[in-house]
Amino acid sequence: MTLTNWAGNTTFHAKEVHHPSSIDELQRLVAASAHVRALGSGHSFNHVADTTGDLVALDRMPELVEIDSAAAQVRVSARTTYAKLAPLLHRAGFALANLASLPHISVAGSVATGTHGSGDAVPGLAAAVSGIELVTADGSPLSLARGEADFPGAVVSVGALGVVTALTLDLVPAFELRQYVREGLRPDALGHFDEIMSSGYSVSLFTDYRDTRVWLKRADELTDPDWYGTTPADGPRHPLPAMPADSCTEQLGVPGAWYERLPHFRADFPPSGAGDELQTELLLPREHAVAALRALFAVGDRIRPVLQISEVRSIAADDLWLSPFEGRDSIGVHFTWIKDVAAVLPVVELVERTLAPFGPIPHWGKLFTRWPECPDRFRELVRRLDPDGKFGNDFTRVLLGE
Ligand SMILES: Cc1cc2nc3c(=O)[nH]c(=O)nc-3n(C[C@H](O)[C@H](O)[C@H](O)COP(=O)(O)OP(=O)(O)OC[C@H]3O[C@@H](n4cnc5c(N)ncnc54)[C@H](O)[C@@H]3O)c2cc1C
Repeated sequence: MTLTNWAGNTTFHAKEVHHPSSIDELQRLVAASAHVRALGSGHSFNHVADTTGDLVALDRMPELVEIDSAAAQVRVSARTTYAKLAPLLHRAGFALANLASLPHISVAGSVATGTHGSGDAVPGLAAAVSGIELVTADGSPLSLARGEADFPGAVVSVGALGVVTALTLDLVPAFELRQYVREGLRPDALGHFDEIMSSGYSVSLFTDYRDTRVWLKRADELTDPDWYGTTPADGPRHPLPAMPADSCTEQLGVPGAWYERLPHFRADFPPSGAGDELQTELLLPREHAVAALRALFAVGDRIRPVLQISEVRSIAADDLWLSPFEGRDSIGVHFTWIKDVAAVLPVVELVERTLAPFGPIPHWGKLFTRWPECPDRFRELVRRLDPDGKFGNDFTRVLLGE
């Protein structure tokens, strides 16, 4: 059977797909393989997870969720999804500081690509990682903890350093949020971008560069009937205006647990358009947000024919070498495209050109054509831990400039 990613736009070229069921078996497999890569839940839109050698799916590995209440940390198996992890944490009185728009993705795959949600004060999901355990090129295990020299290179790693088996994540006390959708944000309200984005714990703008809606996730009620000239949505909304909202987390200001409000999509429904889409996202320094959005609005007529919706999010800085947020509070400009690669790629190039003056770094798990400079220290770490390029693929070779 042909193995593809979630969207079906990428076919894997692996000569064999393996499903080890123990760390020992995984170690033997990695040691014996010439070229090997791990697969998460397959939600990336490019060839980042691909290999022409051995592809390792961890779906038969033991699942692990060990909560250390005293340390406010959880040790979790790489394959575990946020959908599985979050309710267990909540039941123990804990939360993760942030989640992505869908919970169906694996922890290891998400942090490997720098996956993030939104929130001025909240960094990407990888910033919660305080420890990482992996099987390296010769099959030996390696554990790295925050504070160790190589750690900041090992978390957002695009799978280039080894097969991650477990991660330790920082927890915060469980919390509640209300979710509101406000419609009709006028383009001139972009002048209030900073106030709008800081109006909630997590705020997203959904726009087609003509009509803009604000999704606010916050603790407090939002009662202002004329908030920045918007009107409250009169019912639940889907990020894609034409879609029914059944798959979306509860809105209309009803308070609920963090993990049932932070993701846009419910864990018990297929997310979004269920694979009928492509995605691109460019991450820019926060200070360029308004200028960058104005530049995109100016070419909106050329973006719209292949656009389903754009989402604008904010992400706090982290210190992980390959993270698009390394050392910079950021804004993410995301594009959900129609599923037509040939029609979409010229428009990806257009948005890359339009945003080029603002120092964009692409989301590693989405479609892009312009590669940023790879940080030297990440390249050096890959060459030291994997001198023969066992975990390399076409994606990492371009990234590393090989
Ligand atoms: C509908 C949809 C919504 C999305 N929403 C968001 C969003 O809100 N925010 C956002 O930032 N992104 C979002 N994404 C992108 C998604 O989060 C990333 O593509 C993420 O990497 C997916 O995780 P995965 O487990 O599917 O990883 P995969 O795509 O399977 O793999 C990604 C990378 O991780 C590596 N990897 C996976 N497991 C391991 C392991 N055990 N050891 C070593 N390396 C490993 C792979 O080799 C590959 O390089 C979305 C994607 C979809 C389809």
